[in-house]
Amino acid sequence: MAAAQFAVFGHPIAHSLSPRIHQAFAQQIGVALNFRAIDVAPEAFAVVAQKFFADGGVGANVTLPHKVAAYALAAERSAAAIRVGAANVLTRLPTAQLAAHNTDGDGLIRDLTERHGEDLRGRRALLLGAGGAAWGVAWSLLDAGVLSLVIANRTAARADQLAVAIGDPARVHTCHWDDLGHAGSFDLIVNATSAGVLGTALQLPFSLLGSRALCYDLSYGPAALGFLAWAHAAQALRAFDGLGMLVETAAAAFALWHGQRPATEPVYQRLRADEG
Ligand code: NDP
Repeated sequence: MAAAQFAVFGHPIAHSLSPRIHQAFAQQIGVALNFRAIDVAPEAFAVVAQKFFADGGVGANVTLPHKVAAYALAAERSAAAIRVGAANVLTRLPTAQLAAHNTDGDGLIRDLTERHGEDLRGRRALLLGAGGAAWGVAWSLLDAGVLSLVIANRTAARADQLAVAIGDPARVHTCHWDDLGHAGSFDLIVNATSAGVLGTALQLPFSLLGSRALCYDLSYGPAALGFLAWAHAAQALRAFDGLGMLVETAAAAFALWHGQRPATEPVYQRLRADEG
């Protein structure tokens, strides 16, 4: 019997770790699967994804820039996907229609709380960025119990849009990017910008860090180094990159597709060791 077909769609996608992560999960539970990285330009995404599923594809991860388009393709949407308005997981239903889910927020919270043992309750959180990933994690940070969430984005209107969508004015506020120096201090700072991936250094004031500040960059590898260096220089208590989030996010998709959640720690440790 041919191996079940899975894929990750993105643009670019060549360096995606998803095929490796899913193969490692599959080995754990002894299933054979084929997991491809499919590079597709935005204008071709809908057609290529629909063909993938029509040809028997079982599930797909979806990343930049296709998450909103993936959401639009689906006939069924999870609550997490609906509130974000974007999907990073597509699953073929028995009816051949697609179901959309968003596991970004779940992945971040599991990495912070389960892997790193952090309790997010009561923290004053700053979310940098208001792109797809920021939308993906914002509600989950609130669900995890942060006391307040300030959203700062280079383009202020996008931060306002996210705050309005969340609709919790008692806990959620925005701050203009240029006013960060006057924003006070935080004990959780989440960098959800793509500045690192784009090779740009963020200029952030050290005054943002409270005395027990935890910093987290959603990106990983070289892209996270600038923010992590800033966090250490500003004396953050702990600072993490988003590699663990990536693995947890993949595990959530794997559980949807295969009915069981894989052990993420060995896979995370192997990827970390390979970073050198
Ligand atoms: P988007 O393109 O949707 O959003 C990019 C965001 O970064 C926008 O808020 C943009 O601001 C901001 N930005 C870009 N350059 C700068 C800059 N020089 N200074 C300040 N802000 C800047 O990307 P995503 O939200 O999808 O992804 C963001 C990051 O999250 C990426 O690095 C991605 O790799 C990572 N990610 C990690 C995941 C994981 O599992 N670990 C999962 C998903 C994403 P503006 O609105 O002004 O343009």
